[in-house]
Amino acid sequence: MEQQKKGVLFVISGPSGVGKGTINKRLFHEFGEQVAFSVSATTRSPREGEVNGREYFFITRQEFEKRVANNEFLEHASYAGNDYGTPRSYVLSLLERGVSVILEIDLQGALQVKARMPECVSIFILPPSFEELESRLRGRGTETPEKVAQRLAAARREMEMADTYDYQIVNDDLDAAYARLREIFMKETQRANG
Ligand code: 5GP
Repeated sequence: MEQQKKGVLFVISGPSGVGKGTINKRLFHEFGEQVAFSVSATTRSPREGEVNGREYFFITRQEFEKRVANNEFLEHASYAGNDYGTPRSYVLSLLERGVSVILEIDLQGALQVKARMPECVSIFILPPSFEELESRLRGRGTETPEKVAQRLAAARREMEMADTYDYQIVNDDLDAAYARLREIFMKETQRANG
């Protein structure tokens, strides 16, 4: 009997504005049948163009707290004034079916996942410099100056912990950053199935 393929859990962190969404999407385009994104729940309001159920499940704080109490999250954390959580059963069922899963979550969430599922593979995406990140984040224009400042402070704290992740990728060039992610993805999925 053919052995069931093993899915690998990838935890990817990096500050807002570092371009992790863009790099991850490429992985999905190339390996769509082998990998899925987990869609988190959040109490943050949708940005223009975001669709409920696609980028996030946008829920109220009350609903969020109910899900925490019901132990529905694999991890959850507060980031820049909003709550975010990863749906446990969705992620576990994909892994059981042999599909690898990408969690795009912050440092606090990554620490919780590492503690609960130590076999996960963690990757931190870094900007070429803090100044570059600052200008990208301001240029994006999706957040108020106060929110941008909050996110930059969080970014600084997270970047200090980048070397606690299994891999670091500097996103100074999208093609090069994607090539590195692709290499890590292939190596780790092959290793899990070796
Ligand atoms: P944003 O509001 O820019 O979409 O996300 C803010 C931060 O929250 C990012 O670092 C993002 O990776 C993180 N995040 C998104 N979903 C989750 C989640 O389910 N859990 C945790 N811990 N962080 C999340």
